Amino acid sequence: MTVNRPPVPRPSLDALPSYKPGKPPVGGVAGYKLSSNENPYGPLPSVLKAVQGAAEAFNRYPDYYGQAAVEKLAHSLDVPVDSVVLGPGSVGVLEQIVLAMCEPTSEVVFAWRSFEAYPIVVQVAGAKPVMVPLTADGRHDLDAMYDAITDDTAVVFVCTPNNPTGPTVKADELEAFLDRVPRNVLVVIDEAYTEFVEATDAPDALNMFRTRQNVAVLRTFSKAYGLAGLRVGYGVLPPELADAVRKTMVPFSVSALAQVAVIESLDAESELRARVDDIVAERRRVVAALKEQGWNIPDAQGNFVWLGLGDRAAEFAQAAGEKGVSVRAFPGEGVRVTIAEPEGNDLFLDVARGFVS
Ligand SMILES: *Cc1c(COP(=O)(O)O)cnc(C)c1O
Repeated sequence: MTVNRPPVPRPSLDALPSYKPGKPPVGGVAGYKLSSNENPYGPLPSVLKAVQGAAEAFNRYPDYYGQAAVEKLAHSLDVPVDSVVLGPGSVGVLEQIVLAMCEPTSEVVFAWRSFEAYPIVVQVAGAKPVMVPLTADGRHDLDAMYDAITDDTAVVFVCTPNNPTGPTVKADELEAFLDRVPRNVLVVIDEAYTEFVEATDAPDALNMFRTRQNVAVLRTFSKAYGLAGLRVGYGVLPPELADAVRKTMVPFSVSALAQVAVIESLDAESELRARVDDIVAERRRVVAALKEQGWNIPDAQGNFVWLGLGDRAAEFAQAAGEKGVSVRAFPGEGVRVTIAEPEGNDLFLDVARGFVS
């Protein structure tokens, strides 16, 4: 058989957006990267030391499933060891889940706008994304998401707090949603920013996992724990599904350095908690200042705020960039700005003052 053309990728990839990483700051002298929801603090000394120690052995493959880290996590979360799956970032785990759960006819329902990786992960796996618009105040519309479920729905993602808009779903709303969702549909609760949540009506996702057979929880070490560059997160899933999700992992995708950093970070919870408290205090300050300026913004429960600038989003990002602050613009919709060092936050607030409408 001869076909006279060079190799081409799957045509379905043409429809796929490329992930846009947060930009580093340009132009400004100081330079604040408020575009990737990273933790502004450098590694904790104890974590850095452990990772440096582990680096001495990087000629060896890591432990395949990261068993020591998994056991420590399971213990600290009070869930069965066989329900915890480590992955290269929680996005890695999410991709493993979609690969484990979806056939080419499968649909995955999630809110939009939400985390940019969602449509990518779903389409790479060959499944069909079903995107349900957020409410006007940037919240999940769980009734509309329920209505979007069909016989082909395999998975639903619930992002709480929602990236990039900021609100959590409410516990009672999510319970009512879970009561209605068909039992064969897996609901993945993405809690990448759970450590920053202050809302008292936010769900206890781990408890929902404990009391139901179709709930999974995703968490990451990239944000509150400050390990974004090491790529490690985890899922908590019903054990039979956790088994399946381990099968779809890229072999050895969580490095020994990342595994050690997880263990060490869990031993340093109180130091990390103090840093999270500082970021939350800064968030309160920034939100109060924005309201004072006249902004009406969605409830900010992550380490970021959302300005629904619409057509002026790109212009805002440009103006911030000129001050040495990079923010994440979604042209035509708004900008997401990470809460970071007070100096960077202040520069952002200066820019915001000029854009109040
Ligand atoms: C950052 C983020 C993640 C996790 O990212 P990883 O670095 O892959 O762990 C997951 N979900 C949301 C909504 C995020 O914003």
